[in-house]
Amino acid sequence: MTATRVLVLNSGSSSVKYQLLEMTDGSRLAAGLVERIGERQSRLLHTPLASGGERRERVEEFADHEAALRAVSGELDADGFGLGSPQLAAIGHRVVHGGQTFTRPTLVDDAVLAEIERLIPVAPLHNPANLTGITTARTLNPHLPQVAVFDTSFHTTIPEHAARYAIDTATADEHRVRRYGFHGTSHAYVSRKAAELLGKDPSEINAIVLHLGNGASASAVRGGRCVDTSMGMTPLEGLVMGTRSGDVDPAVVFHLVRVAGVSVDGVDELLNKRSGLVGLCGDNDMREITRRVGEGDEAARLAFDIYIHRLKKYIGAYCAVLGHVHAVVFTAGVGENSAPVRRAALAGLEELGLLVDEERNDAEREGPAAREARIISPEGARVAVAVVPTDEELEIAEQTYALVSDAGSPVRH
Ligand code: ADP
Repeated sequence: MTATRVLVLNSGSSSVKYQLLEMTDGSRLAAGLVERIGERQSRLLHTPLASGGERRERVEEFADHEAALRAVSGELDADGFGLGSPQLAAIGHRVVHGGQTFTRPTLVDDAVLAEIERLIPVAPLHNPANLTGITTARTLNPHLPQVAVFDTSFHTTIPEHAARYAIDTATADEHRVRRYGFHGTSHAYVSRKAAELLGKDPSEINAIVLHLGNGASASAVRGGRCVDTSMGMTPLEGLVMGTRSGDVDPAVVFHLVRVAGVSVDGVDELLNKRSGLVGLCGDNDMREITRRVGEGDEAARLAFDIYIHRLKKYIGAYCAVLGHVHAVVFTAGVGENSAPVRRAALAGLEELGLLVDEERNDAEREGPAAREARIISPEGARVAVAVVPTDEELEIAEQTYALVSDAGSPVRH
């Protein structure tokens, strides 16, 4: 039987999200998540999409990732798709940090696991959980190919002059301090889809991709290769996000530690969890913020304006980095859904060739049409402004499948 299915796993510290995809047509056969792993009342939600069945819920203790993944495999088995199924070609794992080592999706072996582990100091919040997901999945089916797909890989083409910070070279090298960038899977997928939308090969276009979700990042992509991105050594740098500050003067940290007496961990928590939109106005959901702006709420207005100002600065910067821009592309929760953000971000940038057609921008899409890529600039505009829904799971599955089919080795079970 041909193995044409890929299970995509996104393992967090206390959660696992998964999707099972059929690669012949990209359809979803099942999706779900386990949350609160390690707590007394963990919860598994499983949707058997292939059969159109009801979502199933299990609330019980899943003591660790192994227990959680065993339960996921059990749910998949019940639908006829378990981890032992001969149709399963591979598992694709989202791994946040691949450092400078992993420039592409990689078939997991012991050396790869050791290298992901070596990168833990630069990604202490994410890589340990990603690693646990992989080792657990390997235990459950040692013969199944496991592929690691890294958030950082797409950004490994960024040239040194954009990746390096202007700090002492020896210190930077010793501690691997540099721009790595994140959301790479999304930037890769969206920039490729944008080229498709324009009827071009990715090598023929320069694009600015704005991934605006709860986390947010911008990237400059020249001919299909990333040349700059707004997130840095960690996902804290760059745009204003739901709860993260994005760019601040680094001396703000010294000030808060020395003068305000906040601990280093306290500043870390402040900038990552209590800043950005939530820190500015108490809300991090753009729907709520735009609703409040409509009611004349001043804190929400200021938060919105700061968010847009930062976005504009990056758009301008990346126009300069690229020299010639063919497309500006909005994606992720805010980018795909917020017409006010798209309008405000490009307002006044006509001189750069950036125009938004009001009617196209405001057109509400529902159902499957909402997932279609579309142009929102006017006919004949110099630069195409586009909305391209991201699909990180599909991208991980495709990269995984391409690798295991290319490897030339038959999939063993
Ligand atoms: P994550 O970074 O968690 O993957 P998403 O890409 O799903 O995030 O984006 C989530 C965010 O998208 C929400 O916090 C909200 O601000 C925004 N969002 C979702 N739907 C809409 C909408 N219809 N209008 C404006 N913003 C939206």
